[in-house]
Amino acid sequence: MCALEAGKHGRRVAVVERADRIGKKILISGGGRCNFTNLYCTSDNFFSANPHFAKSALAQYTPADFIALVEKHRIPYHEKALGQLFCDRSAGDITDLLEAECRLAGAQIILNSRVQEIQRTTEFVVRTATAEYRAPALVVATGGLSIPKLGATAFGYDVARQFGLKIRKTRPALVPLVLGAEDQSSYCDLAGVSAEVIAACAGQSFREKMLITHRGLSGPAILQISSYWNHGKPVRIDLAPDRLVTAAIGEAKVKNVAAARSAIQQVLPKRFARRWLDLHLPSSWTNPALAKLERQVHDWALTPADTEGYEKAEVTAGGVDTDELSASTMECRKVPGLFFIGEVVDVTGQLGGFNFQWAWASGAAAGRAL
Ligand SMILES: Cc1cc2nc3c(=O)[nH]c(=O)nc-3n(C[C@H](O)[C@H](O)[C@H](O)COP(=O)(O)OP(=O)(O)OC[C@H]3O[C@@H](n4cnc5c(N)ncnc54)[C@H](O)[C@@H]3O)c2cc1C
Repeated sequence: MCALEAGKHGRRVAVVERADRIGKKILISGGGRCNFTNLYCTSDNFFSANPHFAKSALAQYTPADFIALVEKHRIPYHEKALGQLFCDRSAGDITDLLEAECRLAGAQIILNSRVQEIQRTTEFVVRTATAEYRAPALVVATGGLSIPKLGATAFGYDVARQFGLKIRKTRPALVPLVLGAEDQSSYCDLAGVSAEVIAACAGQSFREKMLITHRGLSGPAILQISSYWNHGKPVRIDLAPDRLVTAAIGEAKVKNVAAARSAIQQVLPKRFARRWLDLHLPSSWTNPALAKLERQVHDWALTPADTEGYEKAEVTAGGVDTDELSASTMECRKVPGLFFIGEVVDVTGQLGGFNFQWAWASGAAAGRAL
């Protein structure tokens, strides 16, 4: 995005890419259909040490701008849920779009070229194993640490450190959570079971699906809340949003485990309902005991042992400190001509197309400023 915007206003651009094609993460994104933006994108959908930083770039390049590009290329797309836009065919449509726009703008893409070293003389010198590039400006768009199998490395952060820039501690985000041994043995044989819940922690909450996995919890509600979770803290889960579970027990002729089971099974998947109740069996069936059970259903507190880490994280939170960058251009304040864009910067989107919108918007901001 940065390359095509810079090329459009006459800059000579080289994209130096280590892989044998551009945008490998685009290709695997959104289950192969790329959730390329979100209709309802605002700065509230992002987190960063400076929550205001993303506003300028997001305002300069909006979802409507990217949708216009998608429509120009006649790429069929649809809205799934909550404003999330996906390709009808495949994510390859988006990489084709970016390659075609780069060609039109005269930006050259050089593949199979891993940048090994960067030096700054009167200009920037970029070295790969076999070539050297010189330019008055350099944009670092090397992404985060997630999915090392796709070649993710810390190179972008190393470049930032080389130039004396601060890095905000990185951590896996939008990532499944791993439960402790006891909770694993209680629930993980139910892997595959899912339910709509509200997952909450650190003042954030998300109402979406939760999925039990072989080691813990996943699904959109959990991926979203994982970005706000810190080690040692509980995640609180409302297993039955907007529903009263124990009313039916109260009304039952005989109040007992069978009545409770039947009531909870109306709200939660059967196997999970049974298991959960077995592990939270009330000591009696009095009104106060039922009220306690009701509270527990809406406030199931679990303290995950860990996350599944960068191997399975959709994004990396943290990164190049936004204090180091201009919010409108992404240029380093200390190092004129050096820019950082996309995931390598300490701006992370929620699930739903926001991370690509940040990549497009920060890329466009830098590309227009070059
Ligand atoms: C499984 C998965 C699904 C996702 N789905 C979505 C989704 O549907 N919607 C959404 O908004 N976000 C999604 N994301 C997040 C999104 O893919 C990233 O936030 C986005 O790709 C970041 O863009 P970027 O350009 O900053 O970095 P990247 O896309 O990671 O690109 C960085 C590029 O730099 C190259 N590179 C790195 N080091 C070097 C080097 N030394 N020399 C040369 N080249 C180098 C890499 O090869 C890579 O091509 C998903 C992520 C994953 C892992």
